[in-house]
Amino acid sequence: MMSLRFFLLLLFQFSVSGILAINNEDPTAKTMEDFSGYPLHESTDYPSAPPNSLVSFLRVDTTTLQNQIDELSTFSDTPAPSVTRILYTEKDVLARRYIKNLMGLSGLSVREDAVGNIFGRWDGYESDLVPVATGSHIDAIPYSGKYDGVVGVLGAIEAINVLKRSGFKPKRSLEVVLFTSEEPTRFGISCLGSRLLAGSEALAEALKTTVDGQNISFLEAARSAGYAKEHDDISSVFLKEGSYSAFVELHIEQGPILEAEGLSIGIVTAIAAPASLKVDFEGNGGHAGAVLMPNRNDAGLAAAELALAVEKHVLGSGSIDTVGTVGILELHPGAINSIPSKSHVEIDTRDIDEKRRNDVIEKIHQSATKIASKRGVRLSEFKIVNQDPPALSDNSVIEAMEAASKELNLTHKLMISRAYHDSLFMARVSPMGMLFIPCYKGYSHKPEEYASSHDMGNGVKVLAMTLAKLSLN
Ligand SMILES: [Zn+2]
Repeated sequence: MMSLRFFLLLLFQFSVSGILAINNEDPTAKTMEDFSGYPLHESTDYPSAPPNSLVSFLRVDTTTLQNQIDELSTFSDTPAPSVTRILYTEKDVLARRYIKNLMGLSGLSVREDAVGNIFGRWDGYESDLVPVATGSHIDAIPYSGKYDGVVGVLGAIEAINVLKRSGFKPKRSLEVVLFTSEEPTRFGISCLGSRLLAGSEALAEALKTTVDGQNISFLEAARSAGYAKEHDDISSVFLKEGSYSAFVELHIEQGPILEAEGLSIGIVTAIAAPASLKVDFEGNGGHAGAVLMPNRNDAGLAAAELALAVEKHVLGSGSIDTVGTVGILELHPGAINSIPSKSHVEIDTRDIDEKRRNDVIEKIHQSATKIASKRGVRLSEFKIVNQDPPALSDNSVIEAMEAASKELNLTHKLMISRAYHDSLFMARVSPMGMLFIPCYKGYSHKPEEYASSHDMGNGVKVLAMTLAKLSLN
């Protein structure tokens, strides 16, 4: 249950510090108490302050971690410093191989499911208990950076290494997960792997007919990467509820708060609920000179008015947590001397409160209908593409992350994730929590994305400590 080296180190530490009496106690029990933070039995040996002797055993190899991040970034379809790694492409397959190899080197047993979610397991000494999982993604949108997602995969493998080097033995098995396609780049579906793990029947069905921009089907692409073999059923990916006792994702913040406030760790309490809408208006169009203003039904102006209505309804929610964006507004035919006959608007709206966000969607729908009738255009489509619920982190995971940050003497704060992650979907099948580390100016999804080795090292340490605690729960 404990390596000799670790035991000797413990003895050394105890005798040097003189704080903790060795007595006749089972040293394993002491280790478990130290990691879990919960007393296994009443003991009078500890001083009033919590024992933190184990903290000093957690050593992150930040040089190797940085080298791995740099190496993984070379599996890219665009030149450095940008990274482009799209689902099931040759570069994605090579990157996956690189990760599986590292998992193997760390002594994890590796398996993959039908869509290429990759799992590396370290068996606990009570391996029939439900395991604890951690992980993130390694796909990268075109011309993005090398830290998004990657820190939570390579960092998770390093967290396992940290625990192994410390002599720690997990009670529950620990599992590192690489999620397939967190980014929607190729098939327009974000968090594809984790949505399936969470048991999305609708997605499993849709994937049978889903094609990419080149008309390559999802199944064909998956097969080219070695997944979704003939006998594979996509629904085989679904996890049963209760497959993990906890899930933790380490991620760069992708926002400026931690850096601006000089904090090391963000402990995520909730992930905002995203929804996206597609709206089309159609009018008669016409010549920009010949059709006089009273005779127009301008689909472009309807779109413009709807964009302003989105802003009005979002601000009208009264909460700073409600956001809405019109990121796409297209006009047809798109000529300076032609009244737009068609317009297409895509709207992203998010909130940590699902009902408040859904109220905003309802108001946007009412506005679209009103604007169409007022301007004499047709509302030819109002489609809710996705309307996901928010996710709350589980208290047991929050407590473990907070306790780990405190024991490691790292500054931290509770915060909301306004971007969404695979954790949003893992929360449907497991108690969930997320750890953020600062990133330069909050930059993400661009080549300037950067997190320092120091900050990554802190994140990995807190992750390792958190996993250790959850493993002993
Ligand atoms: Zn990410």
